[in-house]
Amino acid sequence: MSDALHLLSATEIAQRLHAGTLTSRALVEALLIRYRNLNSKVGAFTYLSESDVIAQAEASDERRKQGKTLSSLDGIPVAIKDNIAVKGQPLTCSSKMLAKLISPYDAHVIEALRAAGAIIYGRLNMDEFAMGSSTENSALQKTYNPWDLARIPGGSSGGSAAALAAGFVPLALGSDTGGSIRQPASHCGVVGLKPTYGLISRYGLVAFASSLDQIGPMARSIDDCELLLNALASPDARDMTCFDQGQRTLLPPVAVNQLRIGIPRGILDKGVGQEVAAATRAAIDFYRAQGATIVEVDLPSSDLAVPTYYVVATAEASSNLARYDGVRYGHRSSQATTPVEMMTLSRSEGFGPEVKRRILLGTFVLSAGYADAYYVRALRARSKILSEHLAALEKVDMILTPTVPTPAFKAGEKISDPLQLYLEDIFTIPANLAGLPALSVPCGKSQHLPVGFHLVGAPLSEKKLLAASRVFEASHPYRHQQAPL
Ligand code: GLN
Repeated sequence: MSDALHLLSATEIAQRLHAGTLTSRALVEALLIRYRNLNSKVGAFTYLSESDVIAQAEASDERRKQGKTLSSLDGIPVAIKDNIAVKGQPLTCSSKMLAKLISPYDAHVIEALRAAGAIIYGRLNMDEFAMGSSTENSALQKTYNPWDLARIPGGSSGGSAAALAAGFVPLALGSDTGGSIRQPASHCGVVGLKPTYGLISRYGLVAFASSLDQIGPMARSIDDCELLLNALASPDARDMTCFDQGQRTLLPPVAVNQLRIGIPRGILDKGVGQEVAAATRAAIDFYRAQGATIVEVDLPSSDLAVPTYYVVATAEASSNLARYDGVRYGHRSSQATTPVEMMTLSRSEGFGPEVKRRILLGTFVLSAGYADAYYVRALRARSKILSEHLAALEKVDMILTPTVPTPAFKAGEKISDPLQLYLEDIFTIPANLAGLPALSVPCGKSQHLPVGFHLVGAPLSEKKLLAASRVFEASHPYRHQQAPL
């Protein structure tokens, strides 16, 4: 049996741990063997301390023996994207700038996972500072899609999605500013949720674009995604955008035959690949057959989402990344003779090309004389996108689209064309601009590559989205298929 432990969902693992037919240590040892054999091919992890994860597993087994199990996550490994702080471990954001940084503290989500008894399991590769859609912007290493090692896993949480699809770990954390949880989830055939803005504390998440960034759960099944979400979503005064206890009541799920699903008019004509369109239509037909009401909705300003995002996100990034000046921490150039030269060279040497492009763009759109033409207009477009979504979500429970227009592309294929790459997020970005919860659910294949559909709901409708997709998952055995590694 131990050779198949990597196929188990977290929910199944929890049952076996509880029944005493599995120990956390045996699970972790099986996962470590898989990691040793396959991580060099997939490149999902950038750091993993075997002795540390074994010690955490033993501590969990000991608690279980004494009847002091902390939660249903006790003894279950969760791998962490490398922009979320874990005390005593690297926090590189896959950047040369932070290559030597060891985090002095735990993020809120890490504290929450430790309190639940979860095993904090290694660091996952990502696009540098979470900027990208293929994980090719990592300054540390390449990550490949477990379904086809010639292809990218998506990004920026590419390490997280690849680790799940490769069976390295049952659960992972990602972060999502414009689609970085959902797009790689779609490309790797796993589930990824970006929560409502404010549901999960970002204390200990390295900031990219603060009005958009969220941490979220990634898993191989809907139940697992919900299990992890529940552990992460708690109040935290250290992130002032994080909801208080009184503000975080989630909307109740709706039975599938009561469900109203909105489809944006003409959505499948927008550069969507044939097989992706077919898989999305099949998902819509499935819901219709289950008794859900399918209606067309109008979201005309969504066409502005990508340009709006690349103004707002880069503006915020240029400000957030100003702190990496070679003075307090991070890379410091050894070539400089004056303080100004030191700062200039430290930034020139420490940041990669995409991060530099974003800082330049963000500085430009905020600069005197241009801010009104770019930044202020983008904010106006953003509020239109929000009001159109809220109006549509008065009439429907959720909006369904593909997650990404096309399946995972070949490594290197889009590296010299950033604008092409920006279009990967055309369906995911509106939810970030509007602060709404959104979920990617595996729904089929385009040739041999997974594709997902995307659900967006009203604020705090996570349970509705999860319940609706659970119905789909239950009748699509696809969910537990593993990448052919
Ligand atoms: N791909 C988008 C970008 O490059 C989104 C990234 C993210 O969500 N972190 O900015």
